Amino acid sequence: MKIEHPTPINWQFAKRAEQLQSSVIREILKITMRPDIISFAGGLPSPATFPVEHMKAAFDKVLSQQGKIALQYGPSDGYAPLREWIADSLSIPGSVITPDQVLMVSGSQQALDLLGKVLIEENSKVLVETPSYLGALQAFSVYQPQFVSVPTDDYGLLPEAVDGIADGARLLYALPNFHNPTGRTMSVERRMALVETCARHGLPLIEDDPYGALSYRAEPLPKMLTMNPSGVIYMGSFSKVLTPGIRLGYVVGPTPLIRKLEQAKQAADLHTSQLTQMVVYEAIKDGFLAEHIPSIRTLYANQCQVMLDALAEFAPEGVKWNKPEGGMFIWVTLPKHIDCMQLLEEAIAQKVAFVPGAPFYANEAEKNTLRLSFVTVPPEKIREGVATLAKLIAAKI
Ligand code: PMP
Repeated sequence: MKIEHPTPINWQFAKRAEQLQSSVIREILKITMRPDIISFAGGLPSPATFPVEHMKAAFDKVLSQQGKIALQYGPSDGYAPLREWIADSLSIPGSVITPDQVLMVSGSQQALDLLGKVLIEENSKVLVETPSYLGALQAFSVYQPQFVSVPTDDYGLLPEAVDGIADGARLLYALPNFHNPTGRTMSVERRMALVETCARHGLPLIEDDPYGALSYRAEPLPKMLTMNPSGVIYMGSFSKVLTPGIRLGYVVGPTPLIRKLEQAKQAADLHTSQLTQMVVYEAIKDGFLAEHIPSIRTLYANQCQVMLDALAEFAPEGVKWNKPEGGMFIWVTLPKHIDCMQLLEEAIAQKVAFVPGAPFYANEAEKNTLRLSFVTVPPEKIREGVATLAKLIAAKI
Protein backbone atom coordinates (compact mmCIF):
# COMPACT_ATOMS: atom_id res chain seq x y z
CA MET A 1 0.00 0.00 0.00
CA LYS A 2 1.11 3.56 -0.71
CA ILE A 3 -0.56 6.71 0.76
CA GLU A 4 -1.91 8.71 -2.17
CA HIS A 5 -2.06 12.37 -1.04
CA PRO A 6 -0.05 12.83 2.16
CA THR A 7 -0.16 16.28 3.76
CA PRO A 8 3.18 17.92 2.92
CA ILE A 9 5.34 18.14 6.02
CA ASN A 10 6.35 21.59 7.16
CA TRP A 11 9.74 20.60 8.55
CA GLN A 12 10.28 22.28 11.88
CA PHE A 13 13.88 21.77 12.74
CA ALA A 14 15.04 21.89 16.34
CA LYS A 15 16.68 25.15 17.37
CA ARG A 16 20.04 23.39 17.65
CA ALA A 17 19.73 22.08 14.09
CA GLU A 18 19.37 25.65 12.85
CA GLN A 19 22.99 26.17 13.92
CA LEU A 20 24.09 23.51 11.45
CA GLN A 21 25.59 24.71 8.19
CA SER A 22 27.59 22.97 5.50
CA SER A 23 31.24 23.75 5.94
CA VAL A 24 32.30 26.44 3.46
CA ILE A 25 35.42 24.38 2.92
CA ARG A 26 33.57 21.25 1.92
CA GLU A 27 31.64 23.37 -0.60
CA ILE A 28 34.90 24.79 -1.98
CA LEU A 29 36.38 21.29 -2.13
CA LYS A 30 33.57 20.15 -4.41
CA ILE A 31 34.68 22.71 -7.02
CA THR A 32 38.35 22.10 -6.51
CA MET A 33 38.16 18.31 -6.95
CA ARG A 34 38.25 18.97 -10.72
CA PRO A 35 41.45 17.41 -12.07
CA ASP A 36 42.40 20.52 -14.06
CA ILE A 37 42.61 22.63 -10.88
CA ILE A 38 45.78 22.98 -8.81
CA SER A 39 44.18 22.74 -5.42
CA PHE A 40 45.91 23.93 -2.27
CA ALA A 41 42.43 23.88 -0.68
CA GLY A 42 42.20 20.30 0.57
CA GLY A 43 42.77 19.34 4.16
CA LEU A 44 43.25 15.78 2.95
CA PRO A 45 46.40 13.78 3.65
CA SER A 46 48.34 12.63 0.59
CA PRO A 47 47.00 9.30 -0.72
CA ALA A 48 50.61 8.52 -1.69
CA THR A 49 51.15 7.85 2.02
CA PHE A 50 48.31 5.34 2.45
CA PRO A 51 49.74 1.88 3.25
CA VAL A 52 47.20 -0.01 1.14
CA GLU A 53 49.02 -3.35 1.00
CA HIS A 54 49.81 -3.30 4.70
CA MET A 55 46.16 -2.59 5.55
CA LYS A 56 45.02 -5.30 3.16
CA ALA A 57 47.24 -7.83 4.93
CA ALA A 58 45.90 -6.69 8.32
CA PHE A 59 42.29 -7.01 7.14
CA ASP A 60 43.02 -10.49 5.80
CA LYS A 61 44.68 -11.62 8.99
CA VAL A 62 41.95 -10.28 11.29
CA LEU A 63 39.14 -11.70 9.17
CA SER A 64 40.74 -15.10 8.76
CA GLN A 65 41.90 -15.51 12.36
CA GLN A 66 39.29 -13.57 14.39
CA GLY A 67 36.50 -12.95 11.88
CA LYS A 68 33.62 -13.83 14.18
CA ILE A 69 34.80 -11.36 16.85
CA ALA A 70 35.69 -8.62 14.37
CA LEU A 71 32.24 -8.73 12.77
CA GLN A 72 30.35 -8.74 16.08
CA TYR A 73 29.19 -5.73 18.14
CA GLY A 74 31.92 -4.54 20.50
CA PRO A 75 32.30 -2.54 23.73
CA SER A 76 31.43 1.18 23.68
CA ASP A 77 34.79 2.31 25.02
CA GLY A 78 36.62 0.45 22.25
CA TYR A 79 38.84 -2.57 21.54
CA ALA A 80 40.87 -3.19 24.72
CA PRO A 81 44.26 -4.05 23.14
CA LEU A 82 44.13 -0.86 21.05
CA ARG A 83 43.21 1.25 24.09
CA GLU A 84 46.17 -0.29 25.92
CA TRP A 85 48.47 0.48 22.98
CA ILE A 86 47.30 4.12 22.96
CA ALA A 87 47.65 4.47 26.75
CA ASP A 88 51.22 3.11 26.52
CA SER A 89 52.14 5.38 23.63
CA LEU A 90 50.99 8.47 25.56
CA SER A 91 52.59 7.53 28.90
CA ILE A 92 55.91 9.01 29.94
CA PRO A 93 57.83 8.49 33.19
CA GLY A 94 55.98 10.31 35.95
CA SER A 95 52.81 10.74 33.85
CA VAL A 96 51.14 7.41 33.18
CA ILE A 97 47.94 7.10 31.15
CA THR A 98 45.79 4.03 31.86
CA PRO A 99 43.56 2.27 29.27
CA ASP A 100 40.39 3.27 31.16
CA GLN A 101 41.29 6.89 30.33
CA VAL A 102 41.01 6.13 26.59
CA LEU A 103 37.78 6.18 24.59
CA MET A 104 37.87 5.12 20.93
CA VAL A 105 35.80 7.29 18.59
CA SER A 106 34.76 7.24 14.93
CA GLY A 107 37.31 9.83 13.84
CA SER A 108 38.45 12.47 16.32
CA GLN A 109 35.72 14.67 14.81
CA GLN A 110 33.27 12.57 16.81
CA ALA A 111 35.14 13.43 20.01
CA LEU A 112 34.44 17.12 19.31
CA ASP A 113 30.72 16.41 19.04
CA LEU A 114 30.68 14.25 22.18
CA LEU A 115 32.67 16.84 24.14
CA GLY A 116 30.23 19.53 23.03
CA LYS A 117 27.31 17.32 24.04
CA VAL A 118 28.53 16.61 27.56
CA LEU A 119 30.26 19.92 28.41
CA ILE A 120 28.58 22.81 26.59
CA GLU A 121 25.45 24.43 27.96
CA GLU A 122 23.40 26.81 25.80
CA ASN A 123 24.98 30.31 25.95
CA SER A 124 27.92 29.06 27.99
CA LYS A 125 31.37 30.42 27.20
CA VAL A 126 33.70 28.32 25.05
CA LEU A 127 37.23 29.62 24.47
CA VAL A 128 38.75 29.06 21.02
CA GLU A 129 41.87 30.34 19.30
CA THR A 130 41.61 32.99 16.59
CA PRO A 131 41.50 31.38 14.07
CA SER A 132 40.55 27.80 14.97
CA TYR A 133 39.67 24.49 13.30
CA LEU A 134 36.41 25.00 11.45
CA GLY A 135 35.24 21.44 12.18
CA ALA A 136 35.46 22.15 15.91
CA LEU A 137 33.53 25.41 15.57
CA GLN A 138 30.87 23.50 13.60
CA ALA A 139 30.69 20.63 16.10
CA PHE A 140 30.47 22.94 19.14
CA SER A 141 27.98 25.34 17.47
CA VAL A 142 25.22 22.74 17.62
CA TYR A 143 25.29 23.10 21.42
CA GLN A 144 24.82 26.87 21.10
CA PRO A 145 27.79 28.23 23.05
CA GLN A 146 29.02 31.75 23.12
CA PHE A 147 32.45 31.56 21.48
CA VAL A 148 35.10 33.76 23.03
CA SER A 149 38.19 34.24 20.89
CA VAL A 150 41.60 33.82 22.51
CA PRO A 151 44.17 36.02 20.75
CA THR A 152 47.14 34.40 19.01
CA ASP A 153 50.36 35.50 17.36
CA ASP A 154 52.86 33.72 15.08
CA TYR A 155 53.72 31.33 17.92
CA GLY A 156 50.13 30.35 18.64
CA LEU A 157 47.75 31.05 21.49
CA LEU A 158 48.66 33.74 24.03
CA PRO A 159 48.22 32.09 27.46
CA GLU A 160 48.26 35.41 29.32
CA ALA A 161 45.07 36.42 27.47
CA VAL A 162 43.17 33.53 29.08
CA ASP A 163 43.15 34.99 32.61
CA GLY A 164 40.75 37.74 31.69
CA ILE A 165 38.21 35.50 29.91
CA ALA A 166 38.35 32.15 31.76
CA ASP A 167 35.69 32.97 34.32
CA GLY A 168 32.60 30.79 33.78
CA ALA A 169 33.98 29.17 30.62
CA ARG A 170 33.19 25.49 29.97
CA LEU A 171 36.35 24.63 28.06
CA LEU A 172 39.29 25.95 26.09
CA TYR A 173 39.97 24.26 22.74
CA ALA A 174 43.58 24.45 21.53
CA LEU A 175 45.72 23.00 18.73
CA PRO A 176 49.36 23.19 19.87
CA ASN A 177 50.99 21.27 16.98
CA PHE A 178 50.94 22.43 13.36
CA HIS A 179 47.63 24.11 13.83
CA ASN A 180 44.76 23.88 11.37
CA PRO A 181 44.49 26.33 9.64
CA THR A 182 47.64 28.26 10.55
CA GLY A 183 50.34 25.55 10.67
CA ARG A 184 51.69 27.26 13.82
CA THR A 185 53.35 25.50 16.74
CA MET A 186 53.00 26.55 20.37
CA SER A 187 56.33 26.77 22.21
CA VAL A 188 56.98 24.61 25.30
CA GLU A 189 56.91 27.72 27.51
CA ARG A 190 53.48 28.68 26.20
CA ARG A 191 52.18 25.12 26.63
CA MET A 192 53.29 25.15 30.25
CA ALA A 193 51.81 28.60 30.83
CA LEU A 194 48.50 27.59 29.25
CA VAL A 195 48.26 24.36 31.28
CA GLU A 196 49.09 26.30 34.43
CA THR A 197 46.52 29.03 33.69
CA CYS A 198 43.74 26.53 32.91
CA ALA A 199 44.61 24.50 36.04
CA ARG A 200 44.44 27.66 38.16
CA HIS A 201 40.96 28.44 36.82
CA GLY A 202 39.72 24.81 36.91
CA LEU A 203 39.10 25.17 33.19
CA PRO A 204 39.10 21.96 31.06
CA LEU A 205 41.74 22.25 28.32
CA ILE A 206 41.19 20.29 25.10
CA GLU A 207 44.41 19.46 23.27
CA ASP A 208 43.50 18.47 19.70
CA ASP A 209 46.54 16.82 18.15
CA PRO A 210 45.90 15.05 14.83
CA TYR A 211 49.14 16.37 13.29
CA GLY A 212 51.52 15.97 16.26
CA ALA A 213 53.37 12.96 14.79
CA LEU A 214 54.09 14.88 11.59
CA SER A 215 56.86 16.98 13.09
CA TYR A 216 59.68 17.81 10.67
CA ARG A 217 62.15 18.14 13.51
CA ALA A 218 63.66 15.23 15.42
CA GLU A 219 62.13 15.82 18.84
CA PRO A 220 58.42 16.61 19.03
CA LEU A 221 57.41 19.10 21.73
CA PRO A 222 55.82 17.71 24.92
CA LYS A 223 52.10 17.14 25.03
CA MET A 224 50.05 19.31 27.38
CA LEU A 225 48.31 16.09 28.52
CA THR A 226 51.52 14.97 30.25
CA MET A 227 51.74 18.31 32.07
CA ASN A 228 48.36 17.93 33.77
CA PRO A 229 46.52 14.64 33.06
CA SER A 230 43.75 15.63 35.48
CA GLY A 231 42.79 18.77 33.56
CA VAL A 232 43.73 18.15 29.91
CA ILE A 233 41.57 16.24 27.42
CA TYR A 234 43.73 14.91 24.59
CA MET A 235 42.38 14.05 21.14
CA GLY A 236 44.34 11.84 18.75
CA SER A 237 43.63 10.35 15.34
CA PHE A 238 44.83 7.69 12.91
CA SER A 239 43.71 9.85 9.96
CA LYS A 240 47.03 11.58 9.28
CA VAL A 241 49.39 8.73 10.22
CA LEU A 242 47.52 5.81 8.61
CA THR A 243 44.43 6.71 6.57
CA PRO A 244 41.42 8.98 7.19
CA GLY A 245 38.95 6.62 5.48
CA ILE A 246 39.04 4.19 8.40
CA ARG A 247 37.53 6.93 10.64
CA LEU A 248 39.38 6.09 13.81
CA GLY A 249 40.35 8.47 16.58
CA TYR A 250 40.55 8.57 20.37
CA VAL A 251 39.98 10.87 23.28
CA VAL A 252 41.99 10.61 26.48
CA GLY A 253 41.18 12.30 29.75
CA PRO A 254 40.22 12.00 33.41
CA THR A 255 38.00 8.93 33.97
CA PRO A 256 34.83 10.75 35.19
CA LEU A 257 34.75 12.67 31.91
CA ILE A 258 35.65 9.60 29.81
CA ARG A 259 32.79 7.60 31.40
CA LYS A 260 30.35 10.41 30.59
CA LEU A 261 31.68 10.60 27.01
CA GLU A 262 31.31 6.82 26.77
CA GLN A 263 27.61 7.14 27.66
CA ALA A 264 27.19 9.82 25.00
CA LYS A 265 29.06 7.63 22.51
CA GLN A 266 26.80 4.68 23.34
CA ALA A 267 23.73 6.81 22.67
CA ALA A 268 25.21 8.11 19.41
CA ASP A 269 26.45 4.94 17.70
CA LEU A 270 26.95 2.16 20.30
CA HIS A 271 30.64 1.84 19.45
CA THR A 272 33.25 2.39 16.76
CA SER A 273 33.59 -0.43 14.23
CA GLN A 274 35.16 -3.41 15.94
CA LEU A 275 36.57 -4.60 12.60
CA THR A 276 38.34 -1.27 12.00
CA GLN A 277 39.82 -1.19 15.49
CA MET A 278 41.07 -4.75 15.29
CA VAL A 279 42.59 -4.15 11.86
CA VAL A 280 44.34 -0.98 12.99
CA TYR A 281 45.68 -2.75 16.07
CA GLU A 282 46.93 -5.60 13.88
CA ALA A 283 48.50 -3.07 11.50
CA ILE A 284 50.41 -1.10 14.15
CA LYS A 285 51.11 -3.50 17.04
CA ASP A 286 54.53 -4.56 15.78
CA GLY A 287 55.94 -1.08 15.29
CA PHE A 288 54.70 -0.24 11.78
CA LEU A 289 54.07 3.44 12.57
CA ALA A 290 57.69 3.98 13.60
CA GLU A 291 58.81 3.05 10.08
CA HIS A 292 55.83 4.54 8.22
CA ILE A 293 55.53 8.00 9.80
CA PRO A 294 59.07 9.14 8.85
CA SER A 295 58.19 8.61 5.17
CA ILE A 296 55.12 10.86 5.55
CA ARG A 297 57.21 13.50 7.33
CA THR A 298 59.86 13.46 4.60
CA LEU A 299 57.29 13.83 1.82
CA TYR A 300 55.46 16.67 3.58
CA ALA A 301 58.65 18.45 4.67
CA ASN A 302 59.95 18.41 1.07
CA GLN A 303 56.69 19.67 -0.40
CA CYS A 304 56.46 22.31 2.31
CA GLN A 305 59.93 23.54 1.34
CA VAL A 306 58.92 23.67 -2.35
CA MET A 307 55.96 25.87 -1.43
CA LEU A 308 58.04 28.11 0.87
CA ASP A 309 60.64 28.54 -1.92
CA ALA A 310 57.92 29.35 -4.44
CA LEU A 311 56.37 31.91 -2.08
CA ALA A 312 59.79 33.50 -1.53
CA GLU A 313 60.34 33.66 -5.28
CA PHE A 314 56.92 34.85 -6.47
CA ALA A 315 54.99 36.53 -3.63
CA PRO A 316 54.82 40.31 -3.95
CA GLU A 317 55.86 42.71 -1.18
CA GLY A 318 53.26 42.94 1.60
CA VAL A 319 52.43 39.22 1.65
CA LYS A 320 53.40 37.33 4.83
CA TRP A 321 53.46 33.62 5.62
CA ASN A 322 54.77 31.27 8.29
CA LYS A 323 57.32 28.44 8.09
CA PRO A 324 55.62 25.37 9.55
CA GLU A 325 57.64 22.94 11.67
CA GLY A 326 55.33 20.07 10.73
CA GLY A 327 51.86 19.18 9.48
CA MET A 328 50.12 20.13 6.25
CA PHE A 329 49.41 23.88 6.12
CA ILE A 330 50.91 27.31 5.48
CA TRP A 331 48.98 30.41 6.56
CA VAL A 332 49.23 33.47 4.37
CA THR A 333 48.33 37.04 5.32
CA LEU A 334 47.74 39.55 2.53
CA PRO A 335 47.49 43.34 2.79
CA LYS A 336 44.37 44.30 4.77
CA HIS A 337 42.29 45.51 1.82
CA ILE A 338 42.32 42.16 -0.05
CA ASP A 339 39.28 39.94 0.48
CA CYS A 340 40.34 36.32 0.01
CA MET A 341 36.80 35.12 -0.85
CA GLN A 342 36.91 37.37 -3.88
CA LEU A 343 40.48 36.34 -4.64
CA LEU A 344 39.36 32.70 -4.59
CA GLU A 345 36.84 33.31 -7.38
CA GLU A 346 39.56 34.84 -9.53
CA ALA A 347 41.97 32.05 -8.64
CA ILE A 348 39.49 29.32 -9.57
CA ALA A 349 39.03 31.03 -12.95
CA GLN A 350 42.82 30.64 -13.33
CA LYS A 351 42.58 27.00 -12.14
CA VAL A 352 44.13 27.45 -8.71
CA ALA A 353 42.32 26.99 -5.39
CA PHE A 354 42.96 27.65 -1.70
CA VAL A 355 40.81 28.04 1.39
CA PRO A 356 40.00 31.60 2.52
CA GLY A 357 40.77 32.16 6.20
CA ALA A 358 37.48 33.84 7.17
CA PRO A 359 35.44 30.67 8.00
CA PHE A 360 38.02 29.67 10.62
CA TYR A 361 37.21 32.66 12.84
CA ALA A 362 34.54 32.12 15.50
CA ASN A 363 33.91 35.86 15.78
CA GLU A 364 35.28 38.73 13.71
CA ALA A 365 37.16 37.37 10.69
CA GLU A 366 40.39 38.58 9.11
CA LYS A 367 39.32 38.39 5.48
CA ASN A 368 42.84 38.98 4.17
CA THR A 369 44.05 35.53 5.26
CA LEU A 370 44.19 32.17 3.48
CA ARG A 371 45.30 28.57 4.07
CA LEU A 372 47.50 26.66 1.64
CA SER A 373 47.91 22.89 1.82
CA PHE A 374 51.06 21.58 0.15
CA VAL A 375 50.66 17.83 0.66
CA THR A 376 48.58 16.59 -2.27
CA VAL A 377 50.01 18.73 -5.12
CA PRO A 378 53.20 17.56 -6.89
CA PRO A 379 56.21 19.92 -6.59
CA GLU A 380 56.14 21.32 -10.16
CA LYS A 381 52.43 22.09 -9.78
CA ILE A 382 53.08 23.76 -6.41
CA ARG A 383 55.44 26.22 -8.13
CA GLU A 384 53.00 26.83 -10.99
CA GLY A 385 50.05 27.33 -8.63
CA VAL A 386 51.90 29.70 -6.30
CA ALA A 387 53.16 31.73 -9.28
CA THR A 388 49.58 32.13 -10.59
CA LEU A 389 48.27 33.07 -7.18
CA ALA A 390 51.11 35.56 -6.63
CA LYS A 391 50.28 37.28 -9.92
CA LEU A 392 46.63 37.66 -8.94
CA ILE A 393 47.63 39.11 -5.56
CA ALA A 394 50.20 41.45 -7.11
CA ALA A 395 47.48 42.90 -9.36
CA LYS A 396 45.58 43.97 -6.20
CA ILE A 397 48.48 45.63 -4.38
N1 PMP B 1 40.94 18.15 14.43
C1 PMP B 1 41.61 18.80 13.48
C2 PMP B 1 42.43 19.98 13.87
C3 PMP B 1 41.55 18.41 12.15
O1 PMP B 1 42.23 19.09 11.23
C4 PMP B 1 40.76 17.28 11.82
C5 PMP B 1 40.62 16.78 10.40
N2 PMP B 1 41.07 17.52 9.39
C6 PMP B 1 40.08 16.63 12.85
C7 PMP B 1 40.20 17.07 14.14
C8 PMP B 1 39.21 15.44 12.58
O2 PMP B 1 39.95 14.35 12.15
P1 PMP B 1 39.42 12.87 12.10
O3 PMP B 1 37.96 12.88 12.42
O4 PMP B 1 39.70 12.40 10.72
O5 PMP B 1 40.20 12.12 13.15
